[in-house]
Amino acid sequence: MRFAIAGGGAAGLAVGLAVARAGHQAVVVERDPVTAQDSPEGAFDVARRGIPHFQQPHTFLPRGRQVLRSLAPDVVDTLLDVGAEEQDIAAKLSGERQPGDEDLVYLWVRRPVIEWALRRAAAAEPGVELLAGRHVTGLMPGHGGLLLDNEEAIAADVVVDALGRYRCPPNWPRAKAEPSECGAIYYCRYFALADGAEHLTGPWLLNPRGDLGYMGFNTFRGDNRTFAVILLVPSADHELRALKDNQAWMAAARAITPLNQMTSPDHARPITDVMPMGGLANIDRTKGVPGLVPVGDALCHTDPAFAYGLSFALVHAQALANASARHTTPEDLTEAYLADVGPEARERHAAAVKTDAARTEAWSGTPVDVSRRDGCYPLFAFGTALAAAPHDDLVLRRTVRRIGLLDRTEVFDDDSDLHDRIERIWAGLSRTRSGPPRGDLLEAIAPELVRP
Ligand SMILES: Cc1cc2nc3c(=O)[nH]c(=O)nc-3n(C[C@H](O)[C@H](O)[C@H](O)COP(=O)(O)OP(=O)(O)OC[C@H]3O[C@@H](n4cnc5c(N)ncnc54)[C@H](O)[C@@H]3O)c2cc1C
Repeated sequence: MRFAIAGGGAAGLAVGLAVARAGHQAVVVERDPVTAQDSPEGAFDVARRGIPHFQQPHTFLPRGRQVLRSLAPDVVDTLLDVGAEEQDIAAKLSGERQPGDEDLVYLWVRRPVIEWALRRAAAAEPGVELLAGRHVTGLMPGHGGLLLDNEEAIAADVVVDALGRYRCPPNWPRAKAEPSECGAIYYCRYFALADGAEHLTGPWLLNPRGDLGYMGFNTFRGDNRTFAVILLVPSADHELRALKDNQAWMAAARAITPLNQMTSPDHARPITDVMPMGGLANIDRTKGVPGLVPVGDALCHTDPAFAYGLSFALVHAQALANASARHTTPEDLTEAYLADVGPEARERHAAAVKTDAARTEAWSGTPVDVSRRDGCYPLFAFGTALAAAPHDDLVLRRTVRRIGLLDRTEVFDDDSDLHDRIERIWAGLSRTRSGPPRGDLLEAIAPELVRP
């Protein structure tokens, strides 16, 4: 079969690669003038107007690594060769390793490098043609292919929508959906470790993260001794939008533990300005529309705090390649594909909507009980479980498998013994707020805002 793929981001490239390796032909059409390069040096200088979040921090979850290793192990090798780092969370288990623990691994690499490696592999794949600098403007009658801005038409048996969250040509068909606001703005900054400094180690499961009761923070590692710090602020808190200013952001980081240590000049230097990102929503389009196969964010996208996007893009690519081996008509293929990927996307979308709503409520000052499963379950199953995980092997496994997309949510949600353990551990943990009250934080950043 011949696949015409609209959009050459992570999902479009992964689909091209996957279906070509399953024996099909693929044409990937990308509006930005990006070309495959041998070295990742230029990955950050590429003008990606089609992806506003191109430079934002991305976590590559264990599921994404697992799928990429099965779909394109050469791409994983390339990423490791150019400085991506694996973090084996099973190393934190106190007991013996068990089957499945080999999947508890995060792959730390910045998003432009991931896309660079996918494009390089797709370009080298005999069944893939990459067209760059061409806008898809619509669909051929009967969805027999794609129409491009230069009047060209790409005929195909299967047409794939990999256009991302919101940038579609006029009248582009997509399943109707009710967007649900994530309720947070992300203020991110990347750093490079100073000579002799190492990534901070401590009692946390993955990397330092925390909740100040009115906003939160998270940190991600990157490739080549880089890391990102993300300050998450409720969209409704207009005063905290001052964090878009580099100096104000640094003052806030100095007031929060352990960001004060991570952002100190002895430890690291900033390599980007503050990158704000708002207007984020959870959207489920898994119903699909006839004659078009949605993948990646075009199928479903969720709050970046959960970091599902890249992994799901790879899951969709693999599912489409698998379906293409079993179904010979485009209609059957699309139906089988949506039946395969839909349920998992819908359950994660539902969980993201609930967790975002709970977080917004908590940050607005409404008391929420995260200590018990019968309190605020979405935050119990996320933040409380993460805090408890380093203290119990079962909690660690189940929590990493849940947040890392390795298990369906019911495995965690239906396990009352697990919930008992988390409640017991949480009750015994000493908890200190890692940052000042909101008023004090605003005072700390205020002097930076009046500097010339
Ligand atoms: C702030 C932020 C942080 C995130 N953090 C994470 C994370 O930690 N981990 C994670 O896994 N995911 C994360 N995500 C989600 C992840 O970025 C997305 O899920 C991923 O980009 C989806 O890839 P995609 O290929 O579906 O869409 P996109 O990356 O949006 O790609 C769509 C492509 O289509 C092209 N295009 C658009 N219109 C046209 C046209 N008319 N013609 C031709 N081409 C066109 C665009 O140029 C682009 O290349 C984050 C997202 C955001 C916003």
